Amino acid sequence: NRVIQSEMQDLDLKWENKLRPQSFDEFPGQHDVKEKLKVFVQAASKRGEPLDHTLLFGPPGLGKTTLAQIVAHELKVDIKITSAPAIDKKGDLAAILTSLRPFSILFIDEIHRLPRAIEEYLYTAMEDYYIDIVTGEGLGSQSMKFQLVPFTLIGATTRAGLLDNPFRDRFGIQERLQFYDREALCKILLRSSEILSFKMDTEAATEIARRARGTPRVANRLLKRVRDYAEVKGDGTINNDIAVYALDQLGVDKNGLDEMDRRILKVIAEKYEGGPVGIETLAAALGEESETLEEVYEPFLIQEGFIQKTPRGRMLTNYTKQMNLL
Ligand code: ADP
Repeated sequence: NRVIQSEMQDLDLKWENKLRPQSFDEFPGQHDVKEKLKVFVQAASKRGEPLDHTLLFGPPGLGKTTLAQIVAHELKVDIKITSAPAIDKKGDLAAILTSLRPFSILFIDEIHRLPRAIEEYLYTAMEDYYIDIVTGEGLGSQSMKFQLVPFTLIGATTRAGLLDNPFRDRFGIQERLQFYDREALCKILLRSSEILSFKMDTEAATEIARRARGTPRVANRLLKRVRDYAEVKGDGTINNDIAVYALDQLGVDKNGLDEMDRRILKVIAEKYEGGPVGIETLAAALGEESETLEEVYEPFLIQEGFIQKTPRGRMLTNYTKQMNLL
């Protein structure tokens, strides 16, 4: 089972990489963040300095990794991509930092998951480009300063609030990514269909965009599934009828809510009379990790006005109650 799963993940990753824009021009949406990054990139290049350390935050699948790659591409420097769960010892981090080429980018995904000791180990690396390396053990151990090359750390997180202030303050550039509007998602979908060489009309792209939770990753995944329906049930072309049919079959409704979203709303409505209900209680009732609820599901439900966060927990909004979604 595990083998199949990891192969599937590899395939998914290959597919994602194929669809990843390489330049700011190929990257629709996130207008403000993009314009700022362009200026900072140009300024750093002009001065011959590394780009300031950068923190990108926002829900998964909005393009944090992609933007980091674009920044590296525009700066014409290498990028090393890793994720916090892969760094659990100082030695892991030291090995990465000492292997960086001058001015290159180190991208750490899920940076809020770094253990505190590792986070602190990064401080001197970020500020003065050095780390302390300890050799030997016990009484004979020695600590020495190891000079690093100038580099840029780009951290990505879905939960900026979980970063300690001293860590957060060390990022000179901090940008929040927003959910995408339909127009930007439509552009992304049409571009993806071109790269994957299949036909899709704009109306169909708009329908997929409408149900994609404002998220490019979700849009591309839905596209992949809709294409399956177009190939099996139609002539391979994605038109509006096929898109609507496929999305309905996939359980993604007109509001972009999937089964899990509807379950969340239903549980709050039926078990907790519309809320408020604490996130841990809700997670237990749903049999889901509270982190996943907070990082993956809740931001979209809040942004679209289906639920609201109050000091006493999550509540359905009047809008949801009136919409008769349940
Ligand atoms: P994150 O790092 O925020 O989780 P990624 O950068 O990995 O998100 O993006 C997820 C997928 O969505 C990738 O396949 C990427 O190509 C695509 N994507 C994200 N943002 C855009 C965009 N603005 N334009 C086109 N594709 C995008």
